[in-house]
Amino acid sequence: MQWNDEAEEAMSRVPFFVRKRVRKRVEEEAESRGANEVAMAHVHACRQRFMTNQEAEVKGYQVESCFGSTGCPNRIETGLDLAAALEQELAGRNLKEFLKARVNGPLKLHHEFRITLADCPNGCSRPQITDLGLIAARRPRLTENPCSGCGSCLAACQEGAITLAPDADYPTIDFAQCLACGHCLNACPTGTLDTGATGYRILIGGKLGRHPQLGRELPGIHGPAATLAIARQCVDHFLTHTQRGERFGEIINRTGLDVLAPIPGLDRV
Ligand code: SF4
Ligand code: SF4
Ligand code: SF4
Repeated sequence: MQWNDEAEEAMSRVPFFVRKRVRKRVEEEAESRGANEVAMAHVHACRQRFMTNQEAEVKGYQVESCFGSTGCPNRIETGLDLAAALEQELAGRNLKEFLKARVNGPLKLHHEFRITLADCPNGCSRPQITDLGLIAARRPRLTENPCSGCGSCLAACQEGAITLAPDADYPTIDFAQCLACGHCLNACPTGTLDTGATGYRILIGGKLGRHPQLGRELPGIHGPAATLAIARQCVDHFLTHTQRGERFGEIINRTGLDVLAPIPGLDRV
């Protein structure tokens, strides 16, 4: 749907972490009035509803993604529509009713359990400051195909994680530096670098607010099935331990991360 300049400018002042959702609600408002362009009247109507009855806007959870699926060249394919799987999982947990029973006063958006996906380590959707942040990851692996020494992988790596000694047959990858963006293997013309471990990096307990903190990263790259299982663990832990609407990061600060133990039989690589 088209937006006029005034409405678009008003939207740019909405905090980034609710902008996508507010945008959708404003477009729904315009549609319900039979408009084919969003104008300030629709923005004002939504703002009024939000100010007077925020609880009606609360779903109990949010699953938010970056714009990778709209054609971003950096997107890493993991073979699972994780956003859809998480949405289905959380929709079945009745989180809004659960929160209503525990929060004093009306529910606010910041009470929701929030999962944020980014389809590559650039993290445009800001997975570092959400309850559960998931970053798609793809590590390179060396194959037996001969390396031509072209240096494309070194040029592609922004982390300086790849070196190629003058007399070496193959490059060396420092996985402590590697962010698993996959750029090097995309750049390799000989197939010497190929796709290795693919899945997600997992950040736990990030938040903004009065005491902001970045999510703490679980070690390794987690395959899609393991990621979904850990997400379930996190929601279970949230439901079991939350007190008066505190954020997941505060719970993890109290209980530690060890509660999220590796799950036998699932792929942590
Ligand atoms: S996080 Fe990566 S894949 Fe997603 S929109 Fe940003 S650059 Fe593209
Ligand atoms: S995956 Fe990305 S960060 Fe890792 S070595 Fe390749 S280019 Fe560097
Ligand atoms: S691994 Fe591939 S990209 Fe890197 S130097 Fe060798 S041939 Fe070139």
